Amino acid sequence: MSSEVTVVGAGIFGLACAWAMARRGARVRVLEAARIGAGSSGGNVGALSPHAPENWNEKKQVQLESLLAAEGFWGEVAAAGGVDSGYGRIGRLQPVAADGVAKAEARIAAAKAHWPEGFGMRLVDAPEGLEGLWLHDRLSARIAPRRALAALAAAIRAAGGVIKEGCGEVGPEGPTPPVVWATGAPGLAVLGAGGGVKGQSALLALPGASGPQLYTDGLHVVPHADGTVAIGSTSERAFSDGTATDAQLDALIERARAAVPALRDAPVADRWAGVRPRAASRAPLVGAWPGRPGHVIANGGFKIGFGMAPWVAAAVADLVLGGDNRIPAAWRVS
Ligand SMILES: Cc1cc2nc3c(=O)[nH]c(=O)nc-3n(C[C@H](O)[C@H](O)[C@H](O)COP(=O)(O)OP(=O)(O)OC[C@H]3O[C@@H](n4cnc5c(N)ncnc54)[C@H](O)[C@@H]3O)c2cc1C
Repeated sequence: MSSEVTVVGAGIFGLACAWAMARRGARVRVLEAARIGAGSSGGNVGALSPHAPENWNEKKQVQLESLLAAEGFWGEVAAAGGVDSGYGRIGRLQPVAADGVAKAEARIAAAKAHWPEGFGMRLVDAPEGLEGLWLHDRLSARIAPRRALAALAAAIRAAGGVIKEGCGEVGPEGPTPPVVWATGAPGLAVLGAGGGVKGQSALLALPGASGPQLYTDGLHVVPHADGTVAIGSTSERAFSDGTATDAQLDALIERARAAVPALRDAPVADRWAGVRPRAASRAPLVGAWPGRPGHVIANGGFKIGFGMAPWVAAAVADLVLGGDNRIPAAWRVS
């Protein structure tokens, strides 16, 4: 294809879409109002975790395909641009309540039915310092969000793409098509298709931290490769400053310290807040912008944008470069 594709927004969706098109030979330029990771993607958690495998549906199937594609996707990005994303398939542990064994066994059976061989769930003893039975899965992974964005930016540039930061807000009329709009929560507001849910998260310094991520008491506890452990996240519908951290984050950190003794004395290395793009349907919002030929939306990652990025990027590249549309009907823009 000879014409240039413009991507508006340099978060995980915009950069992943730009890379997916650049690796297929398209000329891409990314226009970002502020800077790479200025929106919801510039955080620090990076849990790539599957939906519960019971009550299987199309959304869970697509998420599974994206999580399975992630290892190859991030490996290729690192090879192309020379920057590692911090990706690692570290698995996940979740506590099983004393009266929850039958439910856990049903979940294990559902994972066996829907996940590929080798990625199942099983019951295991508590990790050191914790108690009871835990449910372990081998599908969950982690990524370092800011490193992932840097890795994508390097790969895009290595493929000849251009990323322009500090452009100011690109107006809704937009540049000449084809255009991919990956503008996060502000973009959903423009479409009248949703808005933002604020989240706060933190990194604690714990040199040598390793092992699976934990999901306990509603908290994500994610060990990263650089000796930090991420703690996420609050979920706030009402807020006045989407980037301010406050006492709600202090409370989250205290809950994590109480739940995981190894974190009790770990100093806080980073505090962060951002606004997740939440479509009215809660599902991703991806596809052609109705009535605007050549304009495509890639949005609505909500709480799983990093996990969904490999699949969404490939589907958007198919749509823009090949005209092929394999996006679930429920995700398309109406
Ligand atoms: C606290 C917290 C924890 C999270 N944890 C996880 C997790 O563990 N795992 C996971 O998968 N997901 C997680 N998420 C969700 C994930 O971060 C989001 O789904 C994802 O960042 C959405 O990416 P995006 O590219 O759609 O939006 P954004 O990252 O918000 O990017 C949109 C970009 O577009 C730019 N922009 C907007 N309007 C314009 C315009 N008109 N012109 C030019 N540029 C524009 C913005 O400046 C911004 O850089 C978390 C989110 C939060 C807040």
